[in-house]
Amino acid sequence: MGTDQHRSVAVAEPAWLNPRDPAQALGPDGRPARSRRAPIWADVPDEQWDDWRWQLSHRINSLEEVGAVLNLTDEERAGLSADDKFRVDITPYFASLIDPDDPNDPIRRQVIPLGREQQAFTAMMEDSLAEDRHSPVPGLVHRYPDRVLMLVTTQCASYCRYCTRSRIVGDPAQNFNTREHEAQLEYLRKTPQVRDVLISGGDGLTLAPKLFEKIIRGIREIPHIEIIRIGSRVPVFMPQRVDDELCDMLAKYHPIWMNLHFNHPNEITPEVSRAVDKLTRAGIPVGNQSVLLAGVNDCVHIQRSLVHRLVENRIRPYYLYQCDLVEGSGHFRTPVGKGLEIMEGLRGHTSGYAIPTYVIDAPGGGGKIPVMPNYLISYSDHKVVLRNYEGYITTYEEPTTYTPHDKAACTYCQHDRPEPGQSGVLGLLEGEAMWIEPKGFEELHRRGNTEAHRLQDPSKWVPFGVGAIEGQSGAPLKVLEAANGGQATGSPAKASPKKAYAPGEEPRPRDGEPTGSAHGELL
Ligand SMILES: *Cc1c(COP(=O)(O)O)cnc(C)c1O
Ligand code: SF4
Repeated sequence: MGTDQHRSVAVAEPAWLNPRDPAQALGPDGRPARSRRAPIWADVPDEQWDDWRWQLSHRINSLEEVGAVLNLTDEERAGLSADDKFRVDITPYFASLIDPDDPNDPIRRQVIPLGREQQAFTAMMEDSLAEDRHSPVPGLVHRYPDRVLMLVTTQCASYCRYCTRSRIVGDPAQNFNTREHEAQLEYLRKTPQVRDVLISGGDGLTLAPKLFEKIIRGIREIPHIEIIRIGSRVPVFMPQRVDDELCDMLAKYHPIWMNLHFNHPNEITPEVSRAVDKLTRAGIPVGNQSVLLAGVNDCVHIQRSLVHRLVENRIRPYYLYQCDLVEGSGHFRTPVGKGLEIMEGLRGHTSGYAIPTYVIDAPGGGGKIPVMPNYLISYSDHKVVLRNYEGYITTYEEPTTYTPHDKAACTYCQHDRPEPGQSGVLGLLEGEAMWIEPKGFEELHRRGNTEAHRLQDPSKWVPFGVGAIEGQSGAPLKVLEAANGGQATGSPAKASPKKAYAPGEEPRPRDGEPTGSAHGELL
């Protein structure tokens, strides 16, 4: 009997693995898949590698350390050697995702400084979103009527070269401490219109877990706060941080939402898939905010691949940000037309779930402005003019030095799946054709557009009392037929020939009768 029991356990089917779930992906050894590890860390035991504290304390930042992982270019050496540069620090996990021999690697470009990042540009600002001006207490930005941005730390797991908050981020001397957190909470307690608190920084997930929980609980204890949001790049730089302990802690304080920050499909690894799976299982809706960056993701095909990898991991693309006018970001900036082109390449071509909203964070501090009609109010060769929800009007200065995306060198462009019949206007942008003609347009054109348009509706062109065009009163129907591709119009009633009028005999409106109805017969 004992033997039978034993046998029944032995033949029990293994748990079914869903081959399409990226969080269940297995590596060649049959164990959960892992991303690449750079050779210098090959001997680190998995236990340490998977420990976020180990990742934080083994970050690389000096020329020597980074040079031991990547084959550096001269410009990278210059960037890493600059004295007054924005902080460099990269987790071993994230640095390992970089191709050591490819200077254009999209992850590398986000975290390894170039000499040219120090170059100034027109309209460059230190605090381009005027956050400091909109802070009633240090670290709390109250810009919208019902929600606030709460900066709880200046520290991040790694540092993005284009960071919009590089004026404070990374600087331990400007960090926020418990006294500031308490002042922020006190402001929230006495400001009842705030219903949504967005925790950001820096990155709250780099704080000691106890302190982070204390802040979240402090917010949750305020009755008028409905939702708490966490904006974090930790799951991208250091997915090891997302453990059961964190997820259990967060789940106590629902409703909690989270926005992550992926810019390129290479950042979505098996470790990330498992981390995001844990977050979503804890009931946290996960979104993504990307920044449009020249040389990283200024390509429709890269963006499409990115959003597909995101939704596959149940991450909802939220915003695609135009790169801010902030110090250090000059060489990352793209024209606004690039963002519009990407949005056009997404809508219709992929699931609506996979499409973010393209926004410009208003220079001078008006909040996120969607790049779409009603908000985009003017557009010249170097500037866009935008208005926000309050009627505040601002400008975004376009870059003067943008190197267009190199399609020939882009594997995403090479492997794009053709979509027959969907080229359309995109084909014009790609230079496949100069124009698209509607059916019958050529026929109209051959006759001369002016005449054709006039004859379709003489009533619109001939002033009363002057008379119709000599000898042409029978022409409208024919021209309409040509415009419909040579087909007479569908219904029999419409197909009957229109009444022809001799010159001067066209119907006239009677006194007091609206012009439209008198001419109905001709229209
Ligand atoms: C981005 C941001 C928010 C949140 O904006 P949503 O459009 O609601 O995501 C709130 N406050 C500030 C200061 C922000 O920068
Ligand atoms: S994670 Fe966010 S706050 Fe931190 S450096 Fe990057 S962009 Fe700046």
